[in-house]
Amino acid sequence: MATLEIDCPVCAEVLELTDADRAELAVGDVIVCDSCNAEMEVTRNGPGEDFELELLGILTVCPNCGEEFDVTDDMLAAAPTIENADGTIASVVSCPHCRAQIELEFEEEAGDSLDNIT
Ligand SMILES: [Zn+2]
Ligand SMILES: [Zn+2]
Repeated sequence: MATLEIDCPVCAEVLELTDADRAELAVGDVIVCDSCNAEMEVTRNGPGEDFELELLGILTVCPNCGEEFDVTDDMLAAAPTIENADGTIASVVSCPHCRAQIELEFEEEAGDSLDNIT
């Protein structure tokens, strides 16, 4: 069975989609990365390699209230960043549920991948 490999745009984890997986996907469906919980919407699902995804956001669990919310590219672009003592850069976003300030750290070596939440 043919398998399409997609690099997660956030963490670069390879997501494997078999023909059977793709047969169940329609344009507008959302795929969630196993590794980083990034959400990607299917924008094309044609034959062979004709497959495209658009990054929606990264599903994050608020450490304060426990609610899930999406961190989108727009939120990150608007978020202030802080530099920690060890040189890591964190973006500060606020939880839409409880307004807690949450730091999202990015690992420089891995490009823009979302590492963890502190
Ligand atoms: Zn990922
Ligand atoms: Zn919260």
